[in-house]
Amino acid sequence: FAPWEDPNAIPFIEFRNVTKRFGDFVAVDNLSLSIYEREFHALLGGSGCGKTTMMRMLAGFETPTEGQILLDGQDLAGIPPYKRPVNMMFQSYALFPHMTVEANIAFGLKQDGMPASEIKSRVDEMLRLVKLEPFAKRKPHQLSGGQRQRVALARSLAKRPKVLLLDEPLAALDKKLREETQLELMTLQEDLRMTFLIVTHDQEEAMTVADRISVMDHGHIRQVATPGEIYETPNSRFVAEFIGDINLFSGQISEVNENDARLFCTVLGQHIDIQGAGKVTAGSNAAFAIRPEKVRISLDKPEPSNANVIPGEVWDIAYMGDVSIYHIKIAETETVRAVVANTTRLVERPITWDDKIWLSWDRDAGVILTK
Ligand code: ATP
Repeated sequence: FAPWEDPNAIPFIEFRNVTKRFGDFVAVDNLSLSIYEREFHALLGGSGCGKTTMMRMLAGFETPTEGQILLDGQDLAGIPPYKRPVNMMFQSYALFPHMTVEANIAFGLKQDGMPASEIKSRVDEMLRLVKLEPFAKRKPHQLSGGQRQRVALARSLAKRPKVLLLDEPLAALDKKLREETQLELMTLQEDLRMTFLIVTHDQEEAMTVADRISVMDHGHIRQVATPGEIYETPNSRFVAEFIGDINLFSGQISEVNENDARLFCTVLGQHIDIQGAGKVTAGSNAAFAIRPEKVRISLDKPEPSNANVIPGEVWDIAYMGDVSIYHIKIAETETVRAVVANTTRLVERPITWDDKIWLSWDRDAGVILTK
């Protein structure tokens, strides 16, 4: 099973109570994080949350104001960037324009004084790895955006670092190429059995490539978990709203029974039952959160058996091809979103604008958020 589930596993990269200040400004605030060998880890967050600063401290381009960073058990304090077994992949525009692909890849190895014959075989290996053998003699401007990106990748892997750092590596690529390159990165990481750390503000990218994601906000980590856990069981409103779409019902916990709870939702004027609510206290303020694809809609009132059922009215429908997103009015100022799969060819909508309908969802389909 995964190393992060093993309490005895030794972290490969460890941030221990790391703080980074720029003058009075706290960019990273007393943050601790463990990343394991061969993990693909993503630092995800909005602009200015401190994710690049974390990566730059690991690479040695910035020094922590407080705290320690360890790699493979070794404290990195005082070790200059070029002596650290990490390498940062820069965006492809950092390639040397006047050099060929192979010269770009060889550059760092030459600087390290590697013998020419060894450089040759290492460069060939890298060209094979990123499938660019036929392009060895070209200059960057003679390549496509995706090919240039692969040269940048090959260059950063040529020294065989233990950790590859990727700072928004795919931001300059269009959507299709970005998705292709994401898959290539994942395959590469598995083949090389290396530890990858990626910085991104793109939640879909983090969900696609990473084994685990750290969701960052204002120099703090809000949650560290697998993509599935982050999506299904966010630990706070911040994380819930940052990743994907979610419906939130605010209210007060009215009853707690072992692991189950009831929340009185003020806007609905109705109770919501939750199975597997976790640790909550009766009387406290909380929100019930449910993803749109877990909400069902129907014209006939469903049997309440094991579901929560509430009335609503169709306000808007957004046709997305594979699914339709229904915006349903549940109160004067509140709407809920339900995602419905378009499994048959759409001739006529069974449920359409202004219909009075019923929303329902299973009692274990959503989570309670207390933060
Ligand atoms: P983005 O996605 O926009 O790159 P980020 O999460 O990577 O954001 P960082 O680059 O880590 O953010 O910056 C975190 C904060 O620290 C920002 O508010 C930034 O302005 C500030 N900061 C970063 N470097 C410096 C510096 N050298 N001097 C002063 N402030 C800095």
